[in-house]
Amino acid sequence: MSSEYADLHLHTVHSDGTATVEELIKEVLTTDIRIIAITDHDNKAGIIPARQLGQKVGIEVIAGIELSCQYKGHDVHLLGYFFDPTNHELKEYCVRFRDERQKRSIKIIEKLKAHGVQITQHQVEALARGGAIGRPHIAQAVVDAGGASSYQQVFDRYINNDGPAYVEKFQITPQDAIALIHRAGGVAVLAHPGTIGDDSVVAHLVQHGLDGLEVYHPYHVTGGQVKHYHILASRYGLLISGGSDWHGARKPDIKIGQCKIHVAHVEKMREVAKSRIPH
Ligand code: AMP
Ligand code: FE
Ligand code: FE
Ligand code: ZN
Repeated sequence: MSSEYADLHLHTVHSDGTATVEELIKEVLTTDIRIIAITDHDNKAGIIPARQLGQKVGIEVIAGIELSCQYKGHDVHLLGYFFDPTNHELKEYCVRFRDERQKRSIKIIEKLKAHGVQITQHQVEALARGGAIGRPHIAQAVVDAGGASSYQQVFDRYINNDGPAYVEKFQITPQDAIALIHRAGGVAVLAHPGTIGDDSVVAHLVQHGLDGLEVYHPYHVTGGQVKHYHILASRYGLLISGGSDWHGARKPDIKIGQCKIHVAHVEKMREVAKSRIPH
């Protein structure tokens, strides 16, 4: 009998996860999860290869992405699901995001240098393995070069949002991200609203067509906020989503399926997406 649970928030080497698509699928097979979404930051390169592999082993892979947005000083992560992975406009956005992340990495490296920390863009790009470059890759490069004793120390000393080597990343507005996902035939879900901590953001995005809320997320479990976001989703008639936000070895305490949703929620999402695709 097939599993009744889905994990819709997973990262691979196409952004700041440590697992390849192949390694991720292998790991999924050790759990009770049979429907997944790979939601790399600003990158959709993992979807089609994962789908091809998943088909062979009985794992359904739905299209996913986690877009970096900025709203009233908040980092807002907008998840897209069930969009067309070949959509041209979304592809162009991903190229822009990748280029901007590369430029930002160079700027961060310059700032680190001014603080006596020496790493090269080449080292960072090698760690990113062609995927979207993020601060986690930079932190790893600093540790590998002996510039800090831990990944967390690099963030705490240099690259936290208020750190001396911080550089803002290219972000779009969540309103634009919602519209982009809709045009690509998908549904738009606000990721881990607990990290924003301001429910007026949810209310605002609902007015701009937000379809769902990521209710089940490790951050909400730790903070005792699952019930709160469940109620909020009901109040606005939003779809309910959830996932582990797995990053492989980069966040070793998180396991695939640690946060999951019943497949009934996925089917509701699928229905909304179907109604959106022009026939
Ligand atoms: P970026 O998209 O390049 O700004 O990197 C964001 C990623 O860095 C997040 O998804 C987290 O995985 C990680 N991150 C951000 N802030 C911190 C922090 N204070 N400590 C550890 N990891 C962090
Ligand atoms: Fe991440
Ligand atoms: Fe996120
Ligand atoms: Zn994530």
